[in-house]
Amino acid sequence: AIHAEQIHKRFGALEVLKGVNLSARKGDVVAIIGGSGSGKSTFLRCLNCLDHPTSGSLRINGEEVRFKPDGHGDLAPASRQQIRQLRSRLAMVFQNFNLWQHRTLLENMIEAPVHVLGVPRKQAIEEGKRLLDRVGLNDKHDAYPAFLSGGQQQRAAIARALAVDPLAMLFDEPTSALDPELVGEVLKVIQSLADEGRTMILVTHEMAFARDVATRVVFFHNGVVEEEGPPSEFFSNPQSERLQKFLSNFN
Ligand code: ATP
Ligand code: MG
Repeated sequence: AIHAEQIHKRFGALEVLKGVNLSARKGDVVAIIGGSGSGKSTFLRCLNCLDHPTSGSLRINGEEVRFKPDGHGDLAPASRQQIRQLRSRLAMVFQNFNLWQHRTLLENMIEAPVHVLGVPRKQAIEEGKRLLDRVGLNDKHDAYPAFLSGGQQQRAAIARALAVDPLAMLFDEPTSALDPELVGEVLKVIQSLADEGRTMILVTHEMAFARDVATRVVFFHNGVVEEEGPPSEFFSNPQSERLQKFLSNFN
């Protein structure tokens, strides 16, 4: 389980996160929605320390992530080991895929397992092939990212995130950079991960998908969680006026 408590983040004078509380238990699929600039990406980035939170606490499977002051008024993980562990437990999938362009898909797959986790190369290759096959890229193991469609690249990025056997996966708008006809193939992969009980936190603008796949939906507004609930209630009976207004844009 992941417990983030009172996460604050400021960039200079701008307070972007104003005390976010969010937890995900094993098997939860938490969909985060909210307007542009409400802090969704910053929150995900604070979870795996791509951004340093200004204050707050984070527990992963009951274990407190240890922070120390980073010298700029924020909190950094206490050690490099701590960062590595965090990133392999919470694997991130980005809007723009972020594959290593100068490496083949299979090379992308084995990088973190071999160099971060110390998995033997041969084993990482076997596992990498299996995961690429799983996301439908069985004939693309040796292709370079630039030669693939956005949908194929994003499926590879998801496979790569799976390769560190994470406790939870963090997705930041995984389909919003894709041509409309490629969105479905990526959502299908994410749906299959949900079906097998993977824990996921997913920022998305795909409301229909959030309704279908999420066990809980969370609405960010202005750096706080304004409302949350199971999708059935959340979408059919929103309580706050802000959420009602936000949802009305999607109908
Ligand atoms: P979107 O739906 O557009 O992706 P978001 O909810 O993900 O929005 P964030 O990207 O978290 O929003 O940004 C929240 C606010 O923080 C914005 O005002 C943004 O300009 C600001 N911000 C984000 N990263 C930085 C940074 N590195 N330095 C300064 N300001 C930043
Ligand atoms: Mg964002």
